[in-house]
Amino acid sequence: MRPAKLSRTDKGGAVKCLACAHGCVIAEGRTGLCGVRRNVQGELQSLVYGLLAAVALDPIEKKPLYHYLPGTTALSLGTFGCNFTCTFCQNYELSQARTVDDQVACLPFLSPEAVIQLALRQGASSIACTYNEPAVWAEYALDIAAQAREAGLRTVFVSNGFYSRELLDAALPLVDAYNIDLKSFSDDFYRRVAGGRLQPVQGAIRAIHEAGAWEEITSLIIPGLNDGEDEVRAMAHFVASVDREMPWHVSRFFPMYHMQDRPVTPSETIERAVQIGHEEGLLYVYSGNLAGHDEASDTICPQCGATVIERHGYAVTARTGLTCPTCGTRVKGVER
Ligand code: SF4
Repeated sequence: MRPAKLSRTDKGGAVKCLACAHGCVIAEGRTGLCGVRRNVQGELQSLVYGLLAAVALDPIEKKPLYHYLPGTTALSLGTFGCNFTCTFCQNYELSQARTVDDQVACLPFLSPEAVIQLALRQGASSIACTYNEPAVWAEYALDIAAQAREAGLRTVFVSNGFYSRELLDAALPLVDAYNIDLKSFSDDFYRRVAGGRLQPVQGAIRAIHEAGAWEEITSLIIPGLNDGEDEVRAMAHFVASVDREMPWHVSRFFPMYHMQDRPVTPSETIERAVQIGHEEGLLYVYSGNLAGHDEASDTICPQCGATVIERHGYAVTARTGLTCPTCGTRVKGVER
């Protein structure tokens, strides 16, 4: 256990966690909603600092980040816990673990220095905090981010964006790029299906953009839940209102975890969502989890329609630059 700095002690020995928008007030001996931050004798402790349950070298496109260091790899990390309880979670074994003491006991400790050395040895350009929500292990993620920068590596958060102001203040100076889930445009969906709220996510998306960090948005389109034309349009409209050059990934749902009763999202629904994104003014809309539709993951020049970056699955198959080879238009993003 390590002290969870994003916290404050309240009267009577309870501690308030400041890592996410839930703002859990946690009694002695109890953990917050995420299951990995515990009040131990009046001090909030992280149960997962340095304890990684998943480590892999991934293409940055898999996060997905399509306009950030395209063609590079990210050392991708995850541990246990999440501040959401999405019934369709694709990573539920990690995120929804709530009795983590036994599970973390067998994990080796990896210091931030060791993570940096591993990333450098693997030839990664960045470190991605990705397989479970980084907010719940923010202290470790931010210690890594601080040291990564000194080593010439970038840090990426793949996140639900349900942040506290305190986490934003701590993360924005250190974390270079974000992929934020916009799960729905209904607060009711957020409350019922994800165990969160919409407004803090919208606020985080705007705050990240205003801070100048690189940001892309992902929306998983689930049949019968958030696939209505009005809702998809509202999500696209919101993203475009932040920045019409912000990439939006609309992703296909596959039955998972407690949501086995829904069908796979029809490919036509995803194609229509891409179309709606363009109608709302977004310049870069990509489909995800849609085999056989590689052309929908290419980056197309908004000026002349030429292919700027061609992708096959998560692999960049041709050039990785963000300047149009035909007309010279610069596509917004960050090159290596
Ligand atoms: S990270 Fe969020 S869910 Fe976890 S203890 Fe802190 S406020 Fe609660």
